[in-house]
Amino acid sequence: RGASDVEVDVVVVGAGQAGLSTAFYLRRAGLVPGRDFVMLDAAERPGGAWPRTWDGLRLFSPAGFSSLPGWMMPPWDDATRGFPTRDHVVDYLTRYEERYDLRVQRPQRVESVSRADDSPDGRLHVATGDRTLSARHVVSATGTWDRPFWPVYPGMRDFVGRQLHTVDYRVPDAFAGQRVVVVGGGNSAAQILAEISTVADTTWVTTRPPRFLPDDVDGRALFTTARARIEALAEGREHSGVAGLGDIVMVPSVKGARDRGVLRAEPMFSRLTLGGVAWGDGTEWECDAIIWCTGFRPALRHLRPLGLRTVGGHVPVAGPSGTQARDEPRLYLVGYGDWTGPASATLAGVGPSARATVAAIAES
Ligand code: FAD
Repeated sequence: RGASDVEVDVVVVGAGQAGLSTAFYLRRAGLVPGRDFVMLDAAERPGGAWPRTWDGLRLFSPAGFSSLPGWMMPPWDDATRGFPTRDHVVDYLTRYEERYDLRVQRPQRVESVSRADDSPDGRLHVATGDRTLSARHVVSATGTWDRPFWPVYPGMRDFVGRQLHTVDYRVPDAFAGQRVVVVGGGNSAAQILAEISTVADTTWVTTRPPRFLPDDVDGRALFTTARARIEALAEGREHSGVAGLGDIVMVPSVKGARDRGVLRAEPMFSRLTLGGVAWGDGTEWECDAIIWCTGFRPALRHLRPLGLRTVGGHVPVAGPSGTQARDEPRLYLVGYGDWTGPASATLAGVGPSARATVAAIAES
């Protein structure tokens, strides 16, 4: 391990909404972007995972409930009852980092975070392809988009049609006139099914019956629950957690699918055949493509050199922030899901987690 090129207080790995919120509070704590803390992001352009999502994606909450700390998301107001588009979010995040002059360095993929044995004050080394930074604290905010989850079913290798994951899907046109199976019971599956079913013959399969929010309830309900949980835990009361993160919000396209009668979920098939899918009772459905909207896992590959034990794919976290790695106190994990803070994998939910993280860093 060579000497590090740059020494800073904090390195933030990832400049999606979680990294940006953390940077907002670091700056507010008096740390200067580019000097006291450095943000590294693997992508070519701002916006975290959002530019890589499908073109027709709609947020499940109105703009006013999808804001990062400090600056509200500008209103989004069109005939769709206020659910902002993907591009609106990308634009907001781009302007957010400009507004606070966060000086994100990109494209800079962090290959490894490791303990700096040669550092007298016990710093961490953060290595990209061509340089190493040394930091007192590292905030990992790399999201989940880089680790799509594919379940395993018999016959997956034999199926001759196309298989893709949420991360590969862009526009419905490529499926015009085809027969398509959409797998998964969350918002991604529902929205993708809704738009593909306008041009293709679709079957929707889920492992459990999908849960739909009432038409007049949207993603705001999530944050209300999250806040209630934070308050309950602070007062030492039990709280069952964030109910409904996987519940389907009836955005206009999904309502349209319901009106057309295509929003009907079948039980999960048991295997793939050469030309389609098959259920345990012998029913088969021929199809051209299968879209796996089956979720994500945290993108934590860069942390491997730290040798942290994981539990169910998560790094155990502790401390008052709820984001400090239990077995490596110089490392914080922000924005990955409820295990790093209630609703912290959402735009409006990540702020409190980022604030608590910076408070912990400032105190140490
Ligand atoms: P990301 O946005 O993934 O950003 C992580 C950044 O880290 C990326 O820029 C990536 O390039 C970079 N990175 C990764 N690895 C490295 C590395 N090793 N080195 C350097 N950089 C790295 N939330 C809502 O609030 N409302 C919604 O309506 C909503 N809809 C959603 C719909 C879909 C389909 C999905 C998948 C999520 C949705 N979410 C929604 C959830 C949530 O807002 C996103 O998952 C969000 O992108 C998570 O932000 P993040 O900053 O943690 O990660």
